[in-house]
Amino acid sequence: MSRYESLTDLIGNTPLVRLRRVVAADSAPLYAKVEYLNPGGSVKDRIALRMVAAAEAQGLLGPGGTIVEPTSGNTGVGLAIVAQQKGYHCVFTCPDKVSRDKIDVLRAYGAEVVICPAAVRPEHPDSYRSVARRIAAERPGAVQLNQYANQSNPDSHYHTTGPELWRQTEGRLTHFVTGIGTGGTISGTGRYLKEVSDGAVRVVGVDPDGSIYSGGTGRPYLLEGVGQPSYPDSYDPTVVDEIIPVADHEAIMMTRRLAREDALLTGGSGGMAVAAAARVAAEAGPQALVVVLLPDSGRGYLSKIFNDDWLAGLGLHDPPTDQPRVRDAA
Ligand code: PMP
Repeated sequence: MSRYESLTDLIGNTPLVRLRRVVAADSAPLYAKVEYLNPGGSVKDRIALRMVAAAEAQGLLGPGGTIVEPTSGNTGVGLAIVAQQKGYHCVFTCPDKVSRDKIDVLRAYGAEVVICPAAVRPEHPDSYRSVARRIAAERPGAVQLNQYANQSNPDSHYHTTGPELWRQTEGRLTHFVTGIGTGGTISGTGRYLKEVSDGAVRVVGVDPDGSIYSGGTGRPYLLEGVGQPSYPDSYDPTVVDEIIPVADHEAIMMTRRLAREDALLTGGSGGMAVAAAARVAAEAGPQALVVVLLPDSGRGYLSKIFNDDWLAGLGLHDPPTDQPRVRDAA
């Protein structure tokens, strides 16, 4: 199919692409699920579609309605696209560590964006989640879809991402590796893959070092869209076999390598997930088939992760590797 009646028909069915250079030569094959090829540029288009449909079906969202959501950008873009088709207004609240590029994208789609401090606890009245709750309560016809509590978030992955991966790997997938933010991706995809494989697929979460999923305190870290200060309802730990913490600098360096060596311009959470997936693939052996999910594009991070001055400001430097490691085509 190459002709569509609506942009939302383009959501999902993203490709799997083999990563050759950022994995060790004797590793299991590692494929990336390239979610930045969704029309809104991220995995979050999937949940936007399902959350809006569910809110309409429940009578929570009607003509002239407003969608309010605390989002670091990607869910906002997905919601903005879906809402635009249906004539809804969007208000998004974002923590102030979110890159300027992402906020500008939301505003370009016509959304209202409220910037909130990142360095406060979630229960603080100025946190981006508290502000979203307040706006949703005060404005007539407004609804908060709340990706952190909405079962349509993991369900969208159960019904789309999981089946796609199983089909695309012809049932040979052995390990699924993904970052955890709301936990929707890992919970829904993981649940489907566990069910369809009778528990054989190993589901591996990846967390920024310092966040609670990997046993941290919730202390600040640089990566956007992943990690949490507390457990959300959208996360189902029962389908997760292992959680690997990855430090900011390792995630950033892998993000830059992915662009330079495998031509995949992904965001920091994708680099973080690949850093862990490369380890999983190295340990899994050649019979395994590992898939890692790349949530969004690196274009939203050009002034940060891909900027040498920003990197130097963190005391980090990234000399280009002299010779990319190439593995034999198998
Ligand atoms: N990476 C980025 C850039 C994200 O925006 C998100 C979503 N917050 C994730 C990863 C994690 O996905 P999930 O919320 O499904 O756990």
